[in-house]
Amino acid sequence: MIEIGEAKWIKDQMSELLKGLKIIRVSMLNRPHKFCFLNHPAHDFEMVLPNKTIQSVKQSGNMIRLLLDYGRELVFFEDLIFEYKVNERVTDKNQMVLYFDNEMALEIKVKLYGFIQVGKSDELMEKDIYYKRALSVIDPLDEAFTLDYFIQETHLNEPKHTVKMALATEQKIPGLGNGTLQDILFNAKVRPDRKVETLQDFEKNALYESTKQVISQIYQQKGRNNNHDLLGKMGQYDVIMSKDRGFCPICQCNLNEKNYLGGKVIFCPHCQK
Ligand SMILES: [Zn+2]
Repeated sequence: MIEIGEAKWIKDQMSELLKGLKIIRVSMLNRPHKFCFLNHPAHDFEMVLPNKTIQSVKQSGNMIRLLLDYGRELVFFEDLIFEYKVNERVTDKNQMVLYFDNEMALEIKVKLYGFIQVGKSDELMEKDIYYKRALSVIDPLDEAFTLDYFIQETHLNEPKHTVKMALATEQKIPGLGNGTLQDILFNAKVRPDRKVETLQDFEKNALYESTKQVISQIYQQKGRNNNHDLLGKMGQYDVIMSKDRGFCPICQCNLNEKNYLGGKVIFCPHCQK
């Protein structure tokens, strides 16, 4: 799953590898996928994208945006794998392939579910609430992402919320998914189902600092160690709250796993309050 930290790293890598390349051919849905969501018929992608050059690459929340000629962009988000390789190594098990003018290709595979969109920014703004949200917020690693802004955007002062509801639902912080959330909460020593009205100020501050820190670490360490980059290399961020770990790295007690608000959350029942 591409969460915000991975999106930042993949954006950097795409900038380095793809910027300036011209798309010469596009092949869609070589393997049809029920949960590959396109905003236009597959044929449109194959018609519109050839002869466009990748002018720049941007990241907004968990979205990776390839900016092309004439104000068009190609947007990717959620559970996708990108593989940059020589043409001969492209498989037939993909949902999209971009062939470039350097005999290399970007093969894109959807894992559980993924979105691929093409259009001009104002069209995407109008038609896609996720896109609009991702482009409207302040990035957690931006200086303008203050504690006040964090509390306001996550509704952390609203009485009925729980911490997971506040931080990781309804795109309050676009791209902050379960994986990132678990480590944020572990470092902040707060449980996912904790009622926000019981949080002390120091805990709100810990959540804020931890949010910035975990996202920054995932980015700096080129993704989590359960994600691949464009060249097939695993990320170096060692996920703290991982199923494989089993026990808490601080107190050594068994970690709890709880199904909560769409997805399992792992936490330490002893260290997190
Ligand atoms: Zn613990």
